[in-house]
Amino acid sequence: MPHYTYLIIGGGMAADAAVRGIREVDSTGAIGLLASEPELPYNRPPLSKGLWKGEAFDSIWCHTPEAGVTFHRGCTAHSLDLSSKTVTAEGGAAFSFDKLLLATGGDARHLPTASQKILYFRTLADYRKLRSWSESEERICVLGGGFIGSEIAAALALNGKRVTLLFAEAGIGGRIFPEGLSLFLNDYYRQKGVEVLARQTVSAAEEQQGILTLQLGQGRLSAGALVAGIGISPNVGLAKEARLAVENGIVVDEFLRTGHADIYAAGDVAAFFQPALGQRLRFEHEDNARQMGLAAGRNMAGKEAKYDHIPFFYSDLFDLGYEAVGLLDNRLEVFCDWKEEYRSGVIYYLDRRRVRGVLLWNVWGQVDAARALLAEPGPFAPADLRGRIPV
Ligand code: NAP
Repeated sequence: MPHYTYLIIGGGMAADAAVRGIREVDSTGAIGLLASEPELPYNRPPLSKGLWKGEAFDSIWCHTPEAGVTFHRGCTAHSLDLSSKTVTAEGGAAFSFDKLLLATGGDARHLPTASQKILYFRTLADYRKLRSWSESEERICVLGGGFIGSEIAAALALNGKRVTLLFAEAGIGGRIFPEGLSLFLNDYYRQKGVEVLARQTVSAAEEQQGILTLQLGQGRLSAGALVAGIGISPNVGLAKEARLAVENGIVVDEFLRTGHADIYAAGDVAAFFQPALGQRLRFEHEDNARQMGLAAGRNMAGKEAKYDHIPFFYSDLFDLGYEAVGLLDNRLEVFCDWKEEYRSGVIYYLDRRRVRGVLLWNVWGQVDAARALLAEPGPFAPADLRGRIPV
């Protein structure tokens, strides 16, 4: 049975960062990396953004350091035994470890209906499939008004496809943006040629002679294919089986350790206590995957550094774009400081007179100022925030 000083389960951005973190501290310890996908670690954001805007395909690779690292690709771990400190993969291969990182990410949520013409967009294989559909299919439906839905609908429209975007909420990004902005985005997408159907879900799908017919809440819709971005579920199965604490993600302490001293978790799957936001959270974005992976790697190799990073995230919607930190939840109290309504401004999300989230809408270079604001105890009234971050 191969033995690794450091075993990493997962082959995404958090795993790549963990290898780098380990190597900052320990230049020789044997690292094993188990990845379900056949690929070496790659950056996920370009799959729904840059690759559709002319970015070179090869720019996606993370170029994970290889010295002393054994990559087991196409290898899915299916059990974790704490007493023997071993992981067994599908097919029976087993690996033992001194330190283990669970960087297992999440799997796309599925609709209750199945079809070869429904794609849950998450991986490089999904990108390749959508690329081929974008060449063969005349019209593509996109379900979900969240990150994937809004980015993929824009990407396909920018590439000349006929696109219908449908989602359950009243507007695009309806969970995170204030209502006015979300409704503005519906019109903005329509101006860019996207057919936008708000307050719609898919209850069934049927494929005949290459045409997919979707049963909606109201009416039916036909298309060549459907791309769904309806959220992810964190892959907590190994942790649960090993009786590690799980609460909407694998629970880790400030050093990113689970309840077992030699087992760490990082990335989309890990729930950590974020001190500035005052709660245990799980982030599903690139910056968190990278910073948390890096910190976990360093700590596995002997550092004792606390992880208290406030991750930022970003998105591009045609010519509009944003960076954001903290909790973007339109159920919080929202204060909009527009320079030009819906075109450029800063939006503050408050809870009990403290700023819990900042959306920098077409405002750039202010992420650190937004982080600093989240760390301030306040109390803030909305009016105090006008001009607080320059627009
Ligand atoms: P998402 O941003 O969570 O959006 C999914 C949306 O689909 C939510 O509004 C969800 O509503 C809705 N939904 C759930 N079930 C549905 C159903 N049966 N029918 C219609 N709508 C349904 O997730 P995503 O867009 O799928 O993205 C997947 C992951 O990739 C996320 O973790 C995301 O953060 C990450 N990602 C991030 C970026 C970025 O940072 N720019 C870009 C792409 C992807 P409920 O909230 O009610 O469930």
